[in-house]
Amino acid sequence: MPELNKGAVQRLDAAHHLHPFTDSRALRQKGARVIERGEGVYLWDAAGRRILDGMAGLWCVNLGYGRQELIEAAHAQLQQLPYYNLFFQTTHPPAATLAATLAGLLPGELQQLFFTGSGSECNDTVVRMVRHFWAQQGRPERRVIISRHNAYHGSTLAGASLGGMAPMHAQGGLPLPDMVHIDQPYHFGEGQGTDPDEFGLARARQLEQKILELGPERVAAFIGEPVQGAGGVIIPPASYWPEIQRICRKYDILLVVDEVICGFGRTGHWFASEYYGLQPDLLCMAKGITSGYIPLGAVAVGARVAEGLIDGGEFFHGFTWSGHPVACAVAQACIEVMKQEHIVERVHDDIGPYLQRRWASLGDHPLVGETRGLGLLAALELVADKTTLARFPEAAGAGLVCREHCFEQGLVMRAVGDTMIISPPLVISREQVDELVDKARRALDLTLHTLSNQQGK
Ligand code: PMP
Repeated sequence: MPELNKGAVQRLDAAHHLHPFTDSRALRQKGARVIERGEGVYLWDAAGRRILDGMAGLWCVNLGYGRQELIEAAHAQLQQLPYYNLFFQTTHPPAATLAATLAGLLPGELQQLFFTGSGSECNDTVVRMVRHFWAQQGRPERRVIISRHNAYHGSTLAGASLGGMAPMHAQGGLPLPDMVHIDQPYHFGEGQGTDPDEFGLARARQLEQKILELGPERVAAFIGEPVQGAGGVIIPPASYWPEIQRICRKYDILLVVDEVICGFGRTGHWFASEYYGLQPDLLCMAKGITSGYIPLGAVAVGARVAEGLIDGGEFFHGFTWSGHPVACAVAQACIEVMKQEHIVERVHDDIGPYLQRRWASLGDHPLVGETRGLGLLAALELVADKTTLARFPEAAGAGLVCREHCFEQGLVMRAVGDTMIISPPLVISREQVDELVDKARRALDLTLHTLSNQQGK
């Protein structure tokens, strides 16, 4: 490809490229940020500025940029067999090997894998699987899937419907039928003044109420992210997941855990289901499975559903990219590097606790109402009043102001409303954590200054 300067890239982009989750008119007027290169935990933009990637791309570049092991695995597989499908009674070594490797990493009875190209496709696959499963059991009326408001499960019709993002539902008449939502276990946002464990129990018990309201005979499954990611790194109170698991068992509802963000070491465990002691019937993974180097997703299926599927005749479902050999080879290399470098143990014992300690130190800032985190996920809440924890008016756009100041400081931090979130590469060093937290503090100072000036006007 010819080398293009920043202006040329921006012009081509503005002329022809529709971006995901973007106000296209506003972006075309402003010109998109151009990222040209990555190495380790850093990105470089077209102006040559170095930026610490506090979000690991979109929660996925867990091993950092420029890992030769992953690049070489892709190269070797491209030469050996760049593509073949898994339909029509065929397999290939990368898919078979990766399925077995994943089965070895997964908790409990999750021993069967179905490959997809993305997290959204995992969740579409889940919907088709659970309905097919129940139909096979002679219970075709078990169709309803219960999720949570402010959940994120992807952008396809089923993914966006299972998700609980109101602006997504508002576009195009979602959710689809038989996908319903209960409230999320977001203590800071919706449970202030209550005991966290009481709140967690109350939110979990909404599942039971919803099941009874719908009729247990109609409910197929409950789906949830162990920690909500895109919703704002929402870590449920300890009481929440055990109660959800209990209710699912009581009514024989399948439990689906969406570990697209939480999987592959993000929480200091291979899967967050281990941390929460969950025994899901189905588990979705993507993103970190290849450290984001190439698209791949997988649905892990527990013994009960797997038996139903295996004995259920042909399952009319699959993607051209299901188990793409290059993606599987990269995932295999990614998992091997994670094992060799003890990445998960390091997140659990060393860099996770270190980041959490340093992140918590931001709690004394006048703008910060709460800090929280788990493993290498963390969030802080911007507030107008530290004592009452009152939020800024929406029009102030406090989160977006802070996000811009972060970027000026050379740090990618994401804003979800007025919640600032991070999810850095798992290979981040202590010095780089210090740099992240120092830059975040400077950005908070500048945000305070900007917001005070706004209020003064
Ligand atoms: N589930 C969760 C929990 C996610 O965070 C995401 C993506 N952020 C998805 C599903 C969708 O994945 P994809 O964008 O690969 O379709």
